[in-house]
Amino acid sequence: MSLSTNADEHQVREFTCGCCAAPAQRTWNFVLRDGSPHAVYFANSYNHGGQGHETWIDVILGSWGGENHSDHVTFGCRVGAVEDSPAPAATAVQACLDGSAGPLHGRTLSREEALAHPWITDFWAVVDHVLEHDPVVHPHLYG
Ligand SMILES: [Zn+2]
Repeated sequence: MSLSTNADEHQVREFTCGCCAAPAQRTWNFVLRDGSPHAVYFANSYNHGGQGHETWIDVILGSWGGENHSDHVTFGCRVGAVEDSPAPAATAVQACLDGSAGPLHGRTLSREEALAHPWITDFWAVVDHVLEHDPVVHPHLYG
């Protein structure tokens, strides 16, 4: 079971941070598993004007290829420095905290719902893939 993304499908849009008005980047892409559509992710990368680098990632899991999104669920996490850890750490959070939830997202999970959900290992695998391969997120967090 291997995850992949198509670099040609990668999207990036600049926006303004709601807390400090510094520029931030939103990227998104499909993630394939063994070549078949598996997930969609959205990653918001903030630097807060040099005051701290963090990325908030929402991952939509479910079945793809039709108009029916009823089995979709969305997990969220924050990746960034935490107390006692200068290296970026990932923490599950309420999904779509930026208010971006739409029909494609299906059910947006709270942190507690995410941690108890059977697909959480799939979620972390997609997050790992994004952290390693997204051409905006990776340099943002790992310099
Ligand atoms: Zn900010």
